[in-house]
Amino acid sequence: MENIKALSRPQVKDLLTELGQPAFREKQIFQWICKGAASFDEMTDLSKALRQTLQQRCSFESLQIATVQRSKDGTRKYLLRLSDGNCIEAVFMQYDYGNSLCISTQVGCAMGCRFCASTLGGKVRNLKAWEMLDEYIVITKDTGKPINHIVLMGIGEPFDNYDEVTGFLDRIHDKDGIGLSLRNVTVSTCGIIPKIRRFGKEYPQVNLAISLHACDQQERESLMPVAKAYPMDELLAACRAHGEETGRRVTFEYTLIAGKNDSREGAAALAKLLQGMLCHVNLIPLNPVEETGLQSADRKTAEAFRDYLEDHGVPATIRRRLGADIDAACGQLRKNSSNQ
Ligand code: SAH
Repeated sequence: MENIKALSRPQVKDLLTELGQPAFREKQIFQWICKGAASFDEMTDLSKALRQTLQQRCSFESLQIATVQRSKDGTRKYLLRLSDGNCIEAVFMQYDYGNSLCISTQVGCAMGCRFCASTLGGKVRNLKAWEMLDEYIVITKDTGKPINHIVLMGIGEPFDNYDEVTGFLDRIHDKDGIGLSLRNVTVSTCGIIPKIRRFGKEYPQVNLAISLHACDQQERESLMPVAKAYPMDELLAACRAHGEETGRRVTFEYTLIAGKNDSREGAAALAKLLQGMLCHVNLIPLNPVEETGLQSADRKTAEAFRDYLEDHGVPATIRRRLGADIDAACGQLRKNSSNQ
């Protein structure tokens, strides 16, 4: 039996037509789903008979909260269980300018970045659009707080799951339901160039973040295997074009790894590469993952790196660490849960 949430809105409309129901019932169902209904029974503006018929035709599945870690600063880190038993992570964060939700796009990841916990067991499967929407729905229900911004920076590579990710964006943007502005969404990619180009044309309002993490091709290849397929000069050219076409600032994420990519020469090379580009560099102190043997740059080195960039005309900030008391790199919660 198909899960009603997995059907598109036109598919639900077709089903209702088949059941002899008016089309507006579909909107009611969509709204109930977006509001976090847990079953057909809660859809009290549908007749009991219709609710029962729907129950016979479709299942009603939701992600289940397996664990929540709560930080003193309001951050909540969720391990969410999918219907097939797999788990993913999502993180709710409170900033001065609003609440932010970081969601996963895949179960595991195929990209193989050396510092990342999400990729250790490889990719298990893509998430469906409805599952990504459910991350938002389940967490909004649990926190009781509005979400102002969504970042696709959890487990997985969004552009390795393009159709479902954009399906998710369409759903969360849908005015009949949540109606989140696409300007309040950031998609982070390890640098799959053809998809960056396509996305810029199809979703120019969405903020783009690029995981750069290195200031030259050789270093980037050693940290991120994807760099072999999509070289850095082409990636940066695509980012420049993206900025020019959309008028939006590209964010470069740069994880500072001790003795690897955190030198003054590195900062100088990076400043040169990004000169004059409409961009911002987000320096992320590495969250050490035991299996990788890599360590974070210390605070002083990170500040020197930032200052160099800033002094040379490249806007840069060091990412504030939220949830330090529940600190675990993205993907570690899931990995530990599957080790148990
Ligand atoms: N696949 C996407 C999004 C997921 S990761 C991407 O590569 O952009 C979100 C960000 O966290 C990326 O910049 C990623 O490189 C970074 N990251 C992964 N593991 C990390 C770790 N252990 N410490 C710090 N940043 C990490």
